[in-house]
Amino acid sequence: MDNTLVDHTNGAAIVSVNCNLCGSDAAKDFFRIYSSVFGAFRSYRVVRCTKCRLAYLNPPPIEEEILSMYKNRYYELVNRPDVADDGKVHFSESHLAWQKSMLDRLERYVPKGLICDIGCGYGALLNLARTRGWEGFGIEPSSQFADYARDVLGISVFRGILKERAFPESFFDAVHLNNVIEHYSDPHGELSEINRILKPDGILQVLTPNIMGLTERGSRLYFKLKGRKVLEEDTLLQHLYFFSIDTLSRMLKESGFEVLEVSARVTNRRRSLEARRGWKKLGYRMMLWLAEKSSRWGDMIIVIAKKCGKEKKILPRER
Ligand SMILES: [Zn+2]
Repeated sequence: MDNTLVDHTNGAAIVSVNCNLCGSDAAKDFFRIYSSVFGAFRSYRVVRCTKCRLAYLNPPPIEEEILSMYKNRYYELVNRPDVADDGKVHFSESHLAWQKSMLDRLERYVPKGLICDIGCGYGALLNLARTRGWEGFGIEPSSQFADYARDVLGISVFRGILKERAFPESFFDAVHLNNVIEHYSDPHGELSEINRILKPDGILQVLTPNIMGLTERGSRLYFKLKGRKVLEEDTLLQHLYFFSIDTLSRMLKESGFEVLEVSARVTNRRRSLEARRGWKKLGYRMMLWLAEKSSRWGDMIIVIAKKCGKEKKILPRER
């Protein structure tokens, strides 16, 4: 990729935005990503709050554009390795093992009851949860995903976003948020809504990419050393926030949760190795080995949090 792509920021200074975690508007350049998700092929700026270190896209895309993208185009944008030629979804063994591990973890903290999977996709997790005694409800903005989960698997799914559904207060025993929070325009507001619909002591499981993972740090350093302005990283497409263990844990606390368990695991080992050759593969393999030895350096943050109160009502300028 050369540097002729359109600069989303037009070379302008960082736009003043209140940080979604601490309210500060002080931020510094962090790195660049590129994407054609929101129309023209553009480079986007990711900044980091100088006060709390939360990383986010700046300027943020327009909220209506984002929602329209998820409702109308998302299905076409994402990989669909599980869809066979007959149009049916055949969940792979590794995918099902991954879903099982998430339910195993949840069940260590909360008795089986009513679970909400936000961004449920085809409904694989809820389908499995049902066989284990859970009653499941899905939230999914993409009509193709939502229709499949409802019509083929017979799962209760609301097509849209969480706040549109307006669940009663203290309704769910558990909420599952897998690779979703980084797509939100207002993650703090969404966590507060999740807090509201959870029963007292209800459990939330969150998974999100770790921006401080060892391989992510290595990629950023590589591009910096090469003098490249843009990080070629397809997996960062559509992400508006980039969490670390620290920023996600703090946002959960600010939203009325107690963090019970948090770690960052290596999850995409084979895929990321297959994409590399020669010394890059060797370097990557070493970083993965080190990341697997640690519980904080993997590419995916996994958090179990318990509802322990209500969101702290603090005005942005007072944070
Ligand atoms: Zn901040």
